[in-house]
Amino acid sequence: MERLKVKAILDKTVDHFNKYGIDNPRLDAEIMLAQILNMSRVNLYVNFDKPLTKEEVDRYREMIIARSKGIPVAYIIGEQEFMSLDFSVNEAVLIPRPETEHLVEGILDRLEDYKGDEPLKVCDIGTGSGAIIISLVKLSKRRMEGIGVDISKDALEVAKQNASKHNLDQDIDFRLGNLLEPISERVDVLVSNPPYIPTKDIEELQKEVKKEPLGALDGGEDGLDYYRQIIDEAPKKLRPSGIIGFEVGIGQAKDVASLLKEAGFSEIEIISDYSEIERVVLGINK
Ligand code: GLN
Repeated sequence: MERLKVKAILDKTVDHFNKYGIDNPRLDAEIMLAQILNMSRVNLYVNFDKPLTKEEVDRYREMIIARSKGIPVAYIIGEQEFMSLDFSVNEAVLIPRPETEHLVEGILDRLEDYKGDEPLKVCDIGTGSGAIIISLVKLSKRRMEGIGVDISKDALEVAKQNASKHNLDQDIDFRLGNLLEPISERVDVLVSNPPYIPTKDIEELQKEVKKEPLGALDGGEDGLDYYRQIIDEAPKKLRPSGIIGFEVGIGQAKDVASLLKEAGFSEIEIISDYSEIERVVLGINK
């Protein structure tokens, strides 16, 4: 039997995905095939006539079945890019998203004005894959001692694996626990992308998002539960003039800004993402 070639199998997969209502059929088909063939997506195009081995076709078929069931591509291939860095992901962690890059960039910007050259203690609450803390430590010009907290042991495994991947095992301390409980020292920076989806909206989420850990999504009745809890504790754990930064859900920025103001934070700033959604709230401890 003639062996299937790259172009033919991609075209067939796109047709199949279209029947299943997959949002970006071509992109997903390419990302998964590129991983199997161990080449970049662009390279698929110069290898359109390359025949696939039976093994490659079998592995690809497994991926197609998983994707058709609504499993996100990132979980299928086990990785996601964030801040131009590669992160391993699995079902234990939220998939890092482009809008979260605004949080990392916002913190990096504020740190430009942060005086002194002693290492900064930077803490990420609900670290998940570790994407936020790892990119901060990796990309900042300042020396940093990172702390990543998560209540999920499985998530911390992923985060530790990612820290190793970026040679930061010695630079980030991962701690198991609830929110700020495992933080006994004063830190210079506190960041978090906590669960923020209002409970009643969870049912309506895209099929793909529902495959992500509920504990990383559900923010309680109005979605603000975790902001309240973190902001309540934060002034005691942050150094004076320390920076706090959150990612927030749609329509939550002003509420989170008010919570920060009430807790005595100053220089509050809201940053919008590329879709013009107010996405990040930053402030300074009094
Ligand atoms: N960004 C995710 C979503 O909108 C939610 C992540 C979170 O709750 N922090 O699906």
